[in-house]
Amino acid sequence: MSECIFCKIASGEVPSEKLYEDDDLFVIRDINPLAPVHLLVIPKKHIPTLLDLTDEDMPLMEKIVKVAREMAKKEGVAERGFKFVINVNEEGGQRVFHLHCHILGGKKFD
Ligand code: AMP
Ligand code: ZN
Repeated sequence: MSECIFCKIASGEVPSEKLYEDDDLFVIRDINPLAPVHLLVIPKKHIPTLLDLTDEDMPLMEKIVKVAREMAKKEGVAERGFKFVINVNEEGGQRVFHLHCHILGGKKFD
């Protein structure tokens, strides 16, 4: 069984409110929000980092971008502006090694 927290949330082993879910990905609120709106867009497939994405994964990445855009609109931060961030490896601030994108909004970033 996977020890990965996002795999556990994907499978339902760890319960979490999913704001959006389909066969390939899901969206949750970050447990430790750094902004009024802080969502995570997470593919169900365990891909450790952005560097591990293959050519076959590119349609999944496209889907992540589209869903992120829709979620930003739904949360009311699209027009105001938001950050769309992927942390990569240790110096990039990555702590969960299962690919995910942060949507951060609802405040002004300097
Ligand atoms: P990163 O530093 O890019 O790897 O981001 C991992 C993010 O996952 C952090 O912002 C954590 O607060 C968040 N996180 C970790 N565990 C959970 C969880 N169970 N539910 C929601 N967010 C989580
Ligand atoms: Zn995983």
